[in-house]
Amino acid sequence: MRTLRSARMSDVTYEIRGPLLRLAQQLERDGEKVVKLNIGDPAAFGVPVPPEVVDAARAGVADSTGYGDAQGLLPAREAIAADYARKGLSGVTPADVFLGNGVSELVSMALQALLDPGDQVLVPAPDYPLWTAATTLAGGEPVHYLCDEGAGWQPDLADLSAKITDRTRAVVIINPNNPTGAVWPREALERITTLAGAHGLVVMADEIYDEILYDGVVHVPAATLAPDLPCLTFGGLSKRYRVPGFRCGWMAISGPRTLTADYAEALETLACLRLCPNVVAQHAVPAALRDTASIRALTAPGGRLAEQRDRCWELLTAIPGVSCVKPQGSFYAFPRLDPRVHPLADDGRFALDLLREEKVLIVQGSGLGWPRHDHFRIVTLPPVGDLGEAAARIARFLERRPAL
Ligand code: PLP
Repeated sequence: MRTLRSARMSDVTYEIRGPLLRLAQQLERDGEKVVKLNIGDPAAFGVPVPPEVVDAARAGVADSTGYGDAQGLLPAREAIAADYARKGLSGVTPADVFLGNGVSELVSMALQALLDPGDQVLVPAPDYPLWTAATTLAGGEPVHYLCDEGAGWQPDLADLSAKITDRTRAVVIINPNNPTGAVWPREALERITTLAGAHGLVVMADEIYDEILYDGVVHVPAATLAPDLPCLTFGGLSKRYRVPGFRCGWMAISGPRTLTADYAEALETLACLRLCPNVVAQHAVPAALRDTASIRALTAPGGRLAEQRDRCWELLTAIPGVSCVKPQGSFYAFPRLDPRVHPLADDGRFALDLLREEKVLIVQGSGLGWPRHDHFRIVTLPPVGDLGEAAARIARFLERRPAL
């Protein structure tokens, strides 16, 4: 009998909420205390939300009963365009901004509007798996370029360059990065945009963590380096403003209009097809973008996110056979298990057994596009005490089961 599932779905996975999460939920129903380190949801860990963001959404409820503009409410788009102007993106007007039900929806739209069957998209490895899945679902082929752990998880530009073909249509940049926490410097971004220019690629810059930065590191928006190229820059309320449940993200098109006009028109059509994004949340956008202080307070030395990043890194690297590049941004760590100490044949098995035996839920590196079975990702969002408990459980497990 023919399966109901499309063939396309056989290449689509999202391990962050995969079978292990369902098992963790079952364990919780059975009364176990599971430390869930799999989802980058600041609200779930009690990271404070700016009250004016919630107030603005609440105040907007009565005005949100009807459909809104397909691209998003004008005051929200004006605030986003002004924010990008402050960050040096030239020429982004409210007409170039699209709001969506999270960046997630917009990534799918951006790829659907761009790709024909067999077209390739360069996606970093490791990656946030939405990009790989959305490329496949849009009929394209994700091609992974490696990031170099030895170089602080910067992009391996020789690998990237070698993977460009005449079917390549876009290059994805995730900066600051999920899952590695790397923040790519200007020079690396310039070299990517130069390659993109030479090969006629669209630059897709997922910068949803753009203000979640530690140690004074500077984030350079990729589009500021490529005013002559078609670029899409993605941002949203989920991380910087800690309200992922609002499902509110945006993307801005920049670059010469002669190059982007057709594509923008296709995006407008897709925006109309989904009618409009969630209206209530959009009322919070202008208030959110006026608040630049609260995320800085959390990420400055002594701030909650900075302290957790520090503690998490110290705890992980104190475990024998575990090393970790110190994250400079976002709220993830991507530690490595030394194969000489902890040889893993299957990192999915490692994650499953860790959950079953120690009730800690992580995401295995291979679920994040990493080609070897020697990494995992955890979120650095739990309070320091909970991180200590999680690290102790991971250490105990590795000591007992060094090889899997
Ligand atoms: N892009 C990256 C790199 C992410 O890590 C996430 C969520 O974790 C998203 C996009 C999705 O964000 P949103 O909540 O806006 O859909």
